[in-house]
Amino acid sequence: IIEIENVTKHYGAFAALSDIDLAIGEGEVVCVIGPSGSGKSTLIRCINLLESYSDKGSIRVDGIPVQPGPTLGQVRAEVGMVFQSFNLFPHMSVLKNVMLAPMRVRRTPAAEAATKARELLARVGIAEQADKFPGQLSGGQQQRVAIARALAMEPKVLLFDEPTSALDPEMVGEVLDVMRQLAGTGVTMVVVTHEMGFARQVADRVIFMDGGRIVETGTPAQIFDTPKEQRTRNFLSAVL
Ligand code: ATP
Ligand code: MG
Repeated sequence: IIEIENVTKHYGAFAALSDIDLAIGEGEVVCVIGPSGSGKSTLIRCINLLESYSDKGSIRVDGIPVQPGPTLGQVRAEVGMVFQSFNLFPHMSVLKNVMLAPMRVRRTPAAEAATKARELLARVGIAEQADKFPGQLSGGQQQRVAIARALAMEPKVLLFDEPTSALDPEMVGEVLDVMRQLAGTGVTMVVVTHEMGFARQVADRVIFMDGGRIVETGTPAQIFDTPKEQRTRNFLSAVL
């Protein structure tokens, strides 16, 4: 469902991504790991064109070219994103945050959007927080709102950029639990994470990046137990 071909991206003279080739199947859960600055965020932000990759290469989501212009709205409607820093609208209730995109983009009537939003909030375990504002919630609760908000558009693909990195340790588990539950629903997930336990347990495939390149990709067992590349071994021995 995601086809990345030969994508290269520079910031000035610096290559943040070099010759990335990656195909991700529908329903696949892919975890992207690697050191700071290796290009993980840049890669997933290219998938919905939050970053441009106009240097070279092509990306398609569900057959739709990811490029500026008339198809971008279609791509964005199929791809949900969850950020490290939640990015909720602070002046709107939790419920309104989840209702907003379907109402704006899909013209869903308010009553229907509200019913759906309450269902999604229940699914991520925070039904009772619907009428609060984001600032009144814990970090873990805010991140679950962000996941519900992404799900409201019924995306085929969900991108996560270190969704638990900004959370206090005791809240990491509740967000990972929601993600683990989502992974079984058939939605395609690309998750940049430092949570190696989650990657090992939930990923169908793990991608190790370094220096703007995909160094190695394989099943969790291949990457964590029998990595082929020295760079992968060095990284894992530093983080595990
Ligand atoms: P982290 O684990 O710290 O989030 P990352 O793997 O997500 O790292 P990226 O954010 O993708 O790394 O950045 C890749 C490289 O591109 C880094 O060296 C970074 O400094 C550089 N970079 C990212 N954004 C920009 C920008 N807007 N301008 C210039 N350089 C940038
Ligand atoms: Mg990053």
